[in-house]
Amino acid sequence: SLPLSQTITLPTGQTYEQPVGLFINGEFVKSQQHKTFEVLNPSTEEEICHVYEAREDDVNLAVDAAHKAFHSEWSKCDPAIRGKYLNNLADLMEANKDTLAAIESMDNGKALSMAQGDVGLVINYLRYCAGYADKLYGKLVDTGSNYFNYVKREPIGVCGQIIPWNFPLLMWSWKIGPALAAGNTVVLKTAESTPLSALYAAKLVKEAGIPNGVVNIVSGFGKITGEAISMHPKIKKLAFTGSTATGKHIMKAAADSNLKKVTLELGGKSPNIVFNDADVKKAVQNLIVGIFYNSGEVCCAGSRVFIQEGIYDEVLEEFKKAAEHLKVGDPFEDGVFQGAQTSQQQLSKILSYVESGKTEGATLVAGGERLGNKGYFVKPTIFADVTPKMKIYSEEIFGPFAVVTKFKTADEAIEMANDSEYGLAAGIHTKSLDTATYVANKLEAGTVWVNTYNDFHSNMPFGGFKQSGIGREMGEAAFENYTQWKTVRIAV
Ligand code: NAD
Repeated sequence: SLPLSQTITLPTGQTYEQPVGLFINGEFVKSQQHKTFEVLNPSTEEEICHVYEAREDDVNLAVDAAHKAFHSEWSKCDPAIRGKYLNNLADLMEANKDTLAAIESMDNGKALSMAQGDVGLVINYLRYCAGYADKLYGKLVDTGSNYFNYVKREPIGVCGQIIPWNFPLLMWSWKIGPALAAGNTVVLKTAESTPLSALYAAKLVKEAGIPNGVVNIVSGFGKITGEAISMHPKIKKLAFTGSTATGKHIMKAAADSNLKKVTLELGGKSPNIVFNDADVKKAVQNLIVGIFYNSGEVCCAGSRVFIQEGIYDEVLEEFKKAAEHLKVGDPFEDGVFQGAQTSQQQLSKILSYVESGKTEGATLVAGGERLGNKGYFVKPTIFADVTPKMKIYSEEIFGPFAVVTKFKTADEAIEMANDSEYGLAAGIHTKSLDTATYVANKLEAGTVWVNTYNDFHSNMPFGGFKQSGIGREMGEAAFENYTQWKTVRIAV
């Protein structure tokens, strides 16, 4: 059967050892049924390697290890020690940052510069969580002199975590960082198309000295490995990032099995609104970052662009020019902004929406076709004259695909922006503080960016209104997801 590690040559020419086993109880192991699956490089469509696939029996082993680690030491130790381990992990990530970024770029298809940005965010966030570990304070509550009352935060237990393929390592850190800081242990499933950076990071978990069983990583598919996690009776909490359809399915499984606490970070169709008084150059840059960053595979992508009528022609023209100017191609080539889509399915999905846009009568302004015939590359695509009845206006495409609509007044923009089942993020571009605050207050979105876009900070919570999710990641809010309050009343 397949060895547990393989020597891989990165597109940079560097070789490294890639773990390909499941990471269970501090060791890389073969899956019990010795099943494996292929991992492809989406830029070349060539095989990178095979990794072991976890089935229900493997998930059971991982959960048992996590359960034991939770009860034996991790949940009970001085939280400062958990912080120290997370800092060790962040230091190791920093020492390995070039390798991690190259693995991510090869596996996901994103431009190397984007992957380098992701790894920077991962390191910052792990350090943020490390600092939080010993600052999860409780409260003393005065209810009169006959009682001594306190409330304290306790960890929840074994957490199941299921992540997508668009930001494999960043989502790994958003899930593992706060869970561990708060004293939980985890069984995390990566997305089937992008398992590699998480396994490499598991090697660093071991090197960081994090006790066996605290972190378990299982590669595999949604229907088998994912279901085994969401149905498992010993898992007490489930955190998921991915599509709204799968999120709903997972929530049902969590409820039917043992009423796991659930956090969901789901899809979006986020509005990015440009007002007449915007700084055109800056606004166009933010439209570009909004929809073409990470090849458009971003849950909060600014995919619906609204431009006010007085500035419409100018902004659309500049947006088109900037999109056509973007360097698309080999993620490892200097200056490339947009790499490959992560899979053949994503490429086909995007191209089918191009056909849908044309059929429904929208105007194709830029792109709209595959680039080359090897690798899943798509030209940055813009459709204008898009109306709310069109599919491309309301459905999440998850690619470098913007739809543009004209508006007259701020209230009209707000109404159109909010006319969506989603509510993850929104952008506003204006020089007026009055306009910015008026619109920001009325938008139904978990994050509103003004004169910026796709701009994250470890200390700022992120999550969705409406069908974009439940709960928040990052910031203080993340720890709400990974702790439960206990009330203690002592009669004196
Ligand atoms: P998905 O939501 O099905 O997959 C995300 C993760 O969930 C993967 O790890 C997958 O293996 C797992 N999963 C799938 N079915 C499961 C199940 N029944 N039980 C447990 N886990 C399960 O997304 P996808 O099919 O890879 O992509 C489809 C669309 O979803 C994309 O085109 C995009 O629109 C959207 N998407 C959104 C995000 C986001 O961050 N919001 C991320 C990925 C995909």
